[in-house]
Amino acid sequence: MKLLLPTGLMADPECKRHEPGPGHPESAERYDAIYLGLCQSGMMDRLEKIPARQALPHELARCHTVTYLKQVEEDCASGLSMLSTGDTPLSPGTLSAALYSAGGVMNAVDAVVAGAVQNAFCLVRPPGHHATSDRGMGFCVYNHVAVAARHAREQHGIERILILDWDVHHGNGTQDIFYADPAVFYCSTHQSPLYPYTGDQMETGWGRGKGTTLNLPVPAGTSGVDLLRTLEAKLVPAMDRYRPELVLISAGFDARVEDPIGGLALTDDDFRALTRFALDLARSHSSGRVVSILEGGYNLFGLAAACAAHVAELTGFSS
Ligand SMILES: [Zn+2]
Repeated sequence: MKLLLPTGLMADPECKRHEPGPGHPESAERYDAIYLGLCQSGMMDRLEKIPARQALPHELARCHTVTYLKQVEEDCASGLSMLSTGDTPLSPGTLSAALYSAGGVMNAVDAVVAGAVQNAFCLVRPPGHHATSDRGMGFCVYNHVAVAARHAREQHGIERILILDWDVHHGNGTQDIFYADPAVFYCSTHQSPLYPYTGDQMETGWGRGKGTTLNLPVPAGTSGVDLLRTLEAKLVPAMDRYRPELVLISAGFDARVEDPIGGLALTDDDFRALTRFALDLARSHSSGRVVSILEGGYNLFGLAAACAAHVAELTGFSS
C-alpha cells in the first residue's frame, strides 16, 4: 500500500548523552546502531525529520508527581551514579537526554496529529515504560509513551488512545499511570515470569479504567507467530469496541531472538508483522495515526535489524 504522507523520524544525538557506563546493556551505542541501520537500509532520505525539544515541567507533571520530578533533578545535579528511586544509572547528560526524549515524542505526536506525517518513529533513550508516576526504575527516567499519550489528550483533545507495548518486559510504569484512566487503553505482550514481575492477565484496570488494561503474558521461547495470534484474538475485538483515535507503540526490540536480556523468539519478519498489525488497527480506527517510541533492545545487531524492519513497514516501502 502506498501512503500519501511520509513517515517521521525523531532522532536527536542529545539522546546519546545518557551514558550508563561500561558494560551496561542500555548503552549510547544503541542509538548509533539504529541510526546506522536506518541509513544502510536506504530509508533515511524518505523519512521526514522531526526535531526534538526539551519537555516542559508541566508536560512531565501530566504523568509524574512534582516530588519525583524534583528528585530526578536533585539526583542528577548532585552527581549520583544511580537514580535514587531505582535501578536507572545516571550520567552528566542523562537529564538532558531524558528531557529531549520526552519533548521529542510530543513533537512527533504534534506532527502526526497535524497531518504533516502519516506516522512516526522516535529514537529515544533512556527508555521509559518502567517509570511510574513517582518512581524511575528499570533503566527509565521519564515515561515517554505516557507523556505522549497525555499530550495527545490534553493538547489535541484526543479522547481514546491505544498504547501497544511489545517490549519483552511488562511496562509497569505505563500501566500504573493509566490504570484508572479510560482515555488510554494499555495492551502489553511480555515474557512472564520476567522483570518487573507485573502484568498478570488479571490486572485489567481500576475504577473508570476497568477494562482498559489488557495484559498478554507469554512464556519464554514464544514465537512471533504465536504472539501475533494472541494479539489478533484479544486486542482486535477489544479495539473494535474501544475505537482508539491514536495508536502509540512502546517499541521494544528485546523480544527479538538473541537478545541478551529477553527470552522470546521474534524475528525481524515478526516485527514487520507486528508493525503491520498496529498499522491495520490504526487504519481501521485512527486514520492511520501511529507514533512508535523506542523502549528496549540490547543486542546491537539485532536491535538495528529489527528496528529497520519496523521503520520500513511504517513507511509502507517494506521490501
Ligand atoms: Zn524491555
